[in-house]
Amino acid sequence: MKTPNPRARTARRPLSIPDPRVSERVQRFPESVIREMTRIAALHDAVNLAQGFPDFDPPEEIRAAALGSIRSGGNQYTVTWGTPGLREAIARKARRFNHIDADPEKNVVVTCGATEAMMAAMLSLVDPGDEVVVPEPFYENYGPDAIVSGARVRAVPLEGPDWRLDEERLKAAFSPKTKVVVVNTPNNPTGRVFSRAELGLLADLCADSDAVAITDEIYEHIVYDDRTHLSLATLPGMADRTITINGISKTYSATGWRVGWAIAPATLATAMRRAHDFLTVCAPHAFQVAAEAALGLPDRYYADLARTYQRKRDRFVAELQRRGFECAPPEGTYYVMTDISRFPFEDDWSFAMALIERAGIACVPGSSFFARPQDGRKYVRFVFAKTDETLNEAIVRLSRVEDRMHADQTSGMSNGGMTAGRGKASSRRGRGSGRR
Ligand code: PLP
Repeated sequence: MKTPNPRARTARRPLSIPDPRVSERVQRFPESVIREMTRIAALHDAVNLAQGFPDFDPPEEIRAAALGSIRSGGNQYTVTWGTPGLREAIARKARRFNHIDADPEKNVVVTCGATEAMMAAMLSLVDPGDEVVVPEPFYENYGPDAIVSGARVRAVPLEGPDWRLDEERLKAAFSPKTKVVVVNTPNNPTGRVFSRAELGLLADLCADSDAVAITDEIYEHIVYDDRTHLSLATLPGMADRTITINGISKTYSATGWRVGWAIAPATLATAMRRAHDFLTVCAPHAFQVAAEAALGLPDRYYADLARTYQRKRDRFVAELQRRGFECAPPEGTYYVMTDISRFPFEDDWSFAMALIERAGIACVPGSSFFARPQDGRKYVRFVFAKTDETLNEAIVRLSRVEDRMHADQTSGMSNGGMTAGRGKASSRRGRGSGRR
């Protein structure tokens, strides 16, 4: 398509805020695209397969724990770095599932979600001018985290469709200014679960450059096909140079409760506690109590979680593939990143806006996961952490998406590869915005 979709253009607000009082720092990053797509989805009454949260509740027993805490005094500040009970539960679980040895008194910092843990870690480690190495595509928060802490991002491209870490590219990203490597495994948006060999390479390079690894392992329990998640902190020599971040959002379907944590070497935990104290003081008291209950759920909870998401993955990815989306089943997480080059659209934003407006499905434009947006314009990301009812509806709506070959063959015209109107796939109504 040569003509941009005009509505796609207007959907994005300009990066700069027209007020000289706004700091140069904040002028450099936009509103989160993921959260923006949720807003746009609501305007269009679209099925929201954009933002990574389940549309079902956490287990009843942990909801009861939150309510019980609110009713019995859990309403005031806690110790800044987390209730003793939660820190002990975190250390116990890290030992059991990750083979990480953590002292709850010295190594654990409870934060308002993994989001705050990552920001507090960056603020604690990075000085202006330092470099942060990040495999790309990456979760969009890491860009603003780097900007706020003054770091320069050195992105290491992973090549789709298998998204493996390439040794030469990784080595080339390290420099004498490298202070931190951000590793997210299982990985959002690619779904990769990094192998021992890939993590070993990262560990070697961290040791050679005296860099600290910050690993975001929030999807550790959502891995498929009998894969196992490996914590970088357990590789030889890494315990003293790794900050391991996690949280309850994804494993216990409680993204709104805002409880996360970091496990860090004692000195770095002390630094993070300072940053965290002045960012948010503490995570919500009652939800820390509920998080402690969550971390005590039996092993079968985690096995069921992975099995449930694997079933959703298999079904949803097969439907995408049937509709002409090029994607491999993710190894972990509840996302699938798809190549949309086959569809007749100018870029990821035109595609995503047309998908919302004409098919009633929201996804995330791939460019938001790349340091240079143009590198991600042939991708979009879907989340499948949804009830079967929601996925059924999304699949019905996907039937409005037709691959370009089919559209070209049957009509010799294109309206962007998607049929208009709600309900089952209907007649094509050209809207002049899809031709390439
Ligand atoms: N890290 C990754 C890789 C994520 O995908 C997300 C949410 O989508 C988060 C962190 C946010 O975690 P939290 O809700 O604990 O702040």
